[in-house]
Amino acid sequence: MNDPAAIRGGPGETAPAAAPLSAVGRGRLALTFDIEHPDRPHWRPDTTDRLLDILAATGIRATFFIQGRWAEANPAVARRIADEGHLVGSHSFFHASMPLLSDSGLEEDMTRATAAISASTGMDPRPWLRLPFGHGVGDPRVMAAIERLGYRHVGWDVDPRDWDPRSTAQVIESEIERVAMSRATSVVVLHGWPSGTVPAVAAVIEALRVRGVEFVTVDQLADDELPAGIPSGPETPV
Ligand SMILES: [Zn+2]
Repeated sequence: MNDPAAIRGGPGETAPAAAPLSAVGRGRLALTFDIEHPDRPHWRPDTTDRLLDILAATGIRATFFIQGRWAEANPAVARRIADEGHLVGSHSFFHASMPLLSDSGLEEDMTRATAAISASTGMDPRPWLRLPFGHGVGDPRVMAAIERLGYRHVGWDVDPRDWDPRSTAQVIESEIERVAMSRATSVVVLHGWPSGTVPAVAAVIEALRVRGVEFVTVDQLADDELPAGIPSGPETPV
């Protein structure tokens, strides 16, 4: 399960077609949140707390990839994520594009993130990592370095673009529901700061639950259900 060699894919590899939901009768969906310092104007400082409120009220566990620098600045919220039973992963320390770092710089950033996340949450984030921007997938040097440090990258196959200021809550919601209802497993990338994310997540949970979709954390998915890459397109996710 935690063997990094089992990570499949790279940017040039085509993922096998997911089985349609109708064939399996029930879909599984992993909500994943990149928790980081926002660099966009459309954010609210209490977004992560409001997300946790919704997840607690609905009894759903999600996966949180936490930036180390954010954890140092927000230790109480970081602790809350772990205390409420969510899966904790790393989103690096400085949120740098990993291919731009030297081997020693990459190791220093990742090790510092592990320490900061562990100190604030009480949880070891390994092996779960989301590379900032998804950069470094398919780069043998980066992938070998994160493997040495005990990590594996988790990509995504649904990007409802909550980071885009033009994405309303309705747009985010409808994109997640459209994809979730068409395949057996989905890994959705969301963020801990955009203003549209909280109402979208609340609506998605309400709409998909009644349709029998099961919400899971990424450690509940099999290796071949975890996307290593990211969808191709003009996105600039954070
Ligand atoms: Zn990010």
